Amino acid sequence: MAITYEQGLSFVQGFAAAIAENKDYLTELDSAIGDADHGTNMNRGMQAVLPKLGSLEGADLGQLFKTTAMTLISTVGGASGPLYGTLFLQLGTSIAGQTELSAEGWSQALEAAVQAVRARGKAELGDKTMIDALQPAADALRAAAQDGTSLDAALAACEAAAEQGMVATIPLVARKGRASYLGERSAGHQDPGATSSWLLVRAARQAFTTDT
Ligand code: ADP
Ligand code: MG
Repeated sequence: MAITYEQGLSFVQGFAAAIAENKDYLTELDSAIGDADHGTNMNRGMQAVLPKLGSLEGADLGQLFKTTAMTLISTVGGASGPLYGTLFLQLGTSIAGQTELSAEGWSQALEAAVQAVRARGKAELGDKTMIDALQPAADALRAAAQDGTSLDAALAACEAAAEQGMVATIPLVARKGRASYLGERSAGHQDPGATSSWLLVRAARQAFTTDT
């Protein structure tokens, strides 16, 4: 079962739609432990990405993700711009030249992308960042792909792990990013970046699922 270019496009567009829909929610989460701009930051970036996708006719999945990355890097201020830029850039590098992707290919690309975000932001699991949603998602996807689980079931497991990781950030004390300035006071709030990362993984599940 392969993931097509059209599905890749629908993933990026779906992520943009989810960010637009949840803009106020993400900003509200960021107002509790940050500077109340995560929703506006991400929405500015993804709205800038959308018009770029139309001119990509004949492109492969690598070019699609690289264009998304470059646009996020150049339009999003704040920590999340370079971090999501890194994620999409690594997806684009892993998938360069491909117009179709297997479940295994998507799993490897997501894993490399999460690794790149970790290297860039120097955050580990439990630091109360987007890594807390992304790493469990990548791990669950790999486990499912290696088990020979169907693509649809693997994508569902990936999304469920991201959601769990997102919720698990609530009691954590932030050790990276702006929220870390609050120390113990950052506990009791869900991390905004982990929340947008869950939206990303959910958009992938929705776009790549075959049984619609
Ligand atoms: P800023 O913190 O600059 O205002 P945003 O509000 O857009 O940027 O994004 C905040 C989110 O970025 C946090 O909720 C967290 O998930 C993520 N983040 C911040 N620093 C890091 C880091 N070093 N590694 C991974 N994610 C991080
Ligand atoms: Mg912020």
